[in-house]
Amino acid sequence: MIPQAIIVRLGELTLKGRNRRRFEKKILQQITMLMKPYARASKHEEFGRVYIILNGEPYQEIAAGLDRIFGLFSYSPAWIAKQDLADIRNKALECIRSCEPFPKTFKVSAKRANKSFPHTALELGHLIGGYILHNEDGRLSVDVHHPDVELKIDIRMEDVYVFSASVAGTGGYPLGTNGKAMLLLSGGIDSPVAGWLSMRRGLEIEGVHFHSFPFTSEKAQQKVIDLTRKLALYSSERIVLHMVPFTEIQTKLNQAGQDNLIITLMRRSMLRITERIANERKAGAIVTGDSLGQVASQTLSSLQVIGRETTLPLLRPLIMMDKVDIIKLAEKIETMEISILPYEDCCTLFIPKSPATNPNLSIVERLEKMMDWLPALEEEAVAKTERLFIHREEEDKFDEYF
Ligand code: ATP
Ligand code: MG
Repeated sequence: MIPQAIIVRLGELTLKGRNRRRFEKKILQQITMLMKPYARASKHEEFGRVYIILNGEPYQEIAAGLDRIFGLFSYSPAWIAKQDLADIRNKALECIRSCEPFPKTFKVSAKRANKSFPHTALELGHLIGGYILHNEDGRLSVDVHHPDVELKIDIRMEDVYVFSASVAGTGGYPLGTNGKAMLLLSGGIDSPVAGWLSMRRGLEIEGVHFHSFPFTSEKAQQKVIDLTRKLALYSSERIVLHMVPFTEIQTKLNQAGQDNLIITLMRRSMLRITERIANERKAGAIVTGDSLGQVASQTLSSLQVIGRETTLPLLRPLIMMDKVDIIKLAEKIETMEISILPYEDCCTLFIPKSPATNPNLSIVERLEKMMDWLPALEEEAVAKTERLFIHREEEDKFDEYF
């Protein structure tokens, strides 16, 4: 009882005109990408729907791929019948038997584009409904007002499609339709989830990770690559990941003897560097995994003192979320198992005993003024940033420095 086709409904019905077409085009591109490895399958578009004919390609895998396309409205597993009542009846039975949970009530709705088909839509309802009742004796009854399952028969010019269930899409907007943002990506639980939520809102993302190699291991970097690869499953092809060497800045900041402000100083430096990379990469925002009150660097005054260092919109999708809900999302997008692997983050290495929860902006600014070496080191960090292209599965391709 494996479906033979998938009927995909593209856009949100609330979208109109040009925007709708732009969104649909983006989703179509992603469906084309998704279908590439499945050579036997074919697809065609018609009136805001895409018909994927599986020709034996795996339904489950392709459906899982559709679940990762943001902005896609819904899809239905479907069976294809010939223009022949007996065949339509069989496929209708197969379709209803595949429903989980098995319904108690159903109704048949037929639509007929091919007017030369020997039965009218109304007649088909009776002919097919009666056949199903006969073959599922006692298990099913007809309810035309509130059926558990509505079995749809679409008699088109050539084939006949039979389908019932409709699976809702993941929601959001198609990838990249809202522009591009830089994602501050650590190896923790929060920032990959923040990245996924941003992508779902139609942002293309590029990751920025600060590492303190050799104080932090290669494994810690691999972890960030693996997290990015999970996010790449939702992108059109690949995600760019910027690896910023932060060792020197961190070591020198640490020597400044300002233990409780070290995190504030580091985060400000990270933002200044990220803004420069964002400008080079033409990104219009910076995304972080901050969640209000979670740690000392995420109090209102910390967010304020840190956030001042960029003029770009600073997006914090998790700001009001509970950790348990963030974890649920991390599990859903399969980043959780990677995030909880033990590793040393550049920030945990130098973690002070009592980080400031209420940093004073003028003190921080005065301190930074005294660090006359800081701008040059930040410039050097940008210059030495490595750019990786993280594909869904392939080997990573390394690029030269900027
Ligand atoms: P996460 O789970 O994302 O690491 P967290 O709760 O551990 O978040 P912090 O370590 O305070 O919180 O980091 C807050 C945010 O700062 C992160 O979500 C991330 O966006 C950014 N960040 C922290 N460390 C790094 C890093 N090494 N490289 C890039 N961004 C970082
Ligand atoms: Mg962290």
